[in-house]
Amino acid sequence: ATPSTSSAPVAHNALPPPSSTAAARSSRIAPHSHIKGLGLSPEGFANADGAGFVGQVNAREACGVVVDLVKSRKFSGRALLLVGAPGTGKTALALAISQELGAKVPFCPMVGSEVYSTEVKKTEVLAEAFRRAIGLRIKETKEVYEGEVTELTPTEAENPLSGYGKTVSHVIVGLKTVKGTKQLRLDPSIYEAILKEKIVVGDVIYIEANTGAVKRVGRSDAYASSYDLESETYVPLPKGEVHKRKELVQDVTLGDLDAANARPQGGQDIMSVMGSLMKSGRTEVTEKLRKEVNKVVKGYVDQGVAEVVPGVVFIDEVHMLDIECFTYLNALLESPMAPTVVFATNRGNSLVRGTIDIVAPHGIPVDLRDRCLIVKTDSYTTADVAKVVQVRANVEGLKLGAGVLERLATEGEKSSLRYALQLLTPGSILARLAGREQIELEDVNEMGELFLDAKTSAASIGTTDTYMS
Ligand code: ATP
Repeated sequence: ATPSTSSAPVAHNALPPPSSTAAARSSRIAPHSHIKGLGLSPEGFANADGAGFVGQVNAREACGVVVDLVKSRKFSGRALLLVGAPGTGKTALALAISQELGAKVPFCPMVGSEVYSTEVKKTEVLAEAFRRAIGLRIKETKEVYEGEVTELTPTEAENPLSGYGKTVSHVIVGLKTVKGTKQLRLDPSIYEAILKEKIVVGDVIYIEANTGAVKRVGRSDAYASSYDLESETYVPLPKGEVHKRKELVQDVTLGDLDAANARPQGGQDIMSVMGSLMKSGRTEVTEKLRKEVNKVVKGYVDQGVAEVVPGVVFIDEVHMLDIECFTYLNALLESPMAPTVVFATNRGNSLVRGTIDIVAPHGIPVDLRDRCLIVKTDSYTTADVAKVVQVRANVEGLKLGAGVLERLATEGEKSSLRYALQLLTPGSILARLAGREQIELEDVNEMGELFLDAKTSAASIGTTDTYMS
C-alpha cells in the first residue's frame, strides 16, 4: 500500500488511524525509548551520561548547537549530516534533537531506500515524510457542562405542524458539582442523546454545548472522578463550575491532514470540516491538495486557532537516495515550511546513485553537501556499550546474571552496540525457556552458537567490508 492511502476510516475525532507506515515508524522509535533528549547542561556541555544518552559527547554538543540554530531560525535551508558506523547512535541523536526542540515535536524517521517503490514516485515519498514532520497544534475551546444529574424534566409542547401530538421543546437538567447545583435549559437534541445514553438521575454526565455530545462518566457513588475527553481518562472531578470552557488541544501533522483530506469523512470538529472542503472522494494526495490544505491551515493559524510546530525529518542511509531525490531535497529545504532535516550515512566516498561517474563524499552531490553541517559519531568503548546495555535491560525489565553485562559489552565492542542490544531479547527468551528470570552467561554462550555478528559472518565467507568502521 502507498503511505497515503490507508483504507481504515477516519476516526470520529478525524485523526487518521495509525497507518501501517505510522506503526512502522513507532516501532522504529521503540528501541530509543530510553532517549529523552541530548542531556546537555544549560551551557550546552554534554554530561558523560544524560537524558538516557551515554558518551558520544562531541556529537551531542554539536547537535545542541544545531538545536540552538533551529530555535533562533538560523538553520533554514540547511541540514545536519550525521556520519558514523552503524549503531553509533545517529538515529538516537536525531530523535533527541526533536525532543530538545520541544514536547510533541514530530519526529519522522525514514530510510533512504524507502523512496524506491513501484507505486509511489520517489519525490512523493520524500514530500510526504516532510509533511509528516510538520506538526499542527489545534486549540479548540469547547463549552461543556459537567456534573451529577439531580433532575431531568422534559417539557412537552404541542407539535405545531400536526396540531396534535407532543414533542419535547426543551429539557431542564439539574447538574450538581462541587460548587453547587444549577438548572440548565437544554435543546431537545440533547434530550435525545440523554435518552439514548439511558442517563438517569444520579449519573455523572458530560455535555458538550456546541455539539450536543453527551457522555456518562460515572455514577454519583463514583462521583469522586470525572471523565476527561482530552486524555480519555477518569480524573478527579474538577472544582469548576457547571458551565465551563474547556480547551482541547489536538496534535496532528500536515501529513495527517493531507491523508484525511484525500479521504473526506463527515464530522463536526475542525479537522473534519477541513476535510470536507474537498469532497471529491479522491484518494491521492496531490500537490494541489497540499496547497489547499496549506491555505486552510494558514487561515487557522491567522485566527490563532492553530499553531505550526516544525519537527524533524530523519533520513537514514542517505547515500541510498539518487540524484533525482537530491535535487528535489534541495527544493524541499528551501520551502518556507520545511522541518529540520537530519541525514545519516555510514559510507565514505561513494558513487552518487543515478549518475555513472560522480563519486562524492558520502554519495551526496556537492550542492546538497554544501548545505550540510557534518557531525561524526564515534565508536563506543566497552564501558559505554555496557552502560547502554544496562539502560536498555532496565527499560525492558530484564535482569542480567553475573558477568553477562561484561560479556555483552565485549560482544558490542567487537561488532556493534546495536548487536549487543539485539542479543538482549533472544537472551531473555533462552532464559525463560530454561525457567529462569535472569539472563545468564550460558544463554549468551548459546546465542553465540546460534547467531553470528556481522563481522564474523562476513569474515566466514570472505567478502570485503565496504562500510566505514
Ligand atoms: P544505523 O546507522 O545502523 O541506523 P545508528 O547510528 O542510527 O545506526 P542507533 O539506531 O541510533 O544507531 O543506535 C542503536 C541503538 O543504540 C538504539 O537503541 C539507540 O537508542 C542506542 N544508542 C546508540 N547510541 C547510544 C548512546 N550514546 N546512549 C544510549 N543509547 C544509545
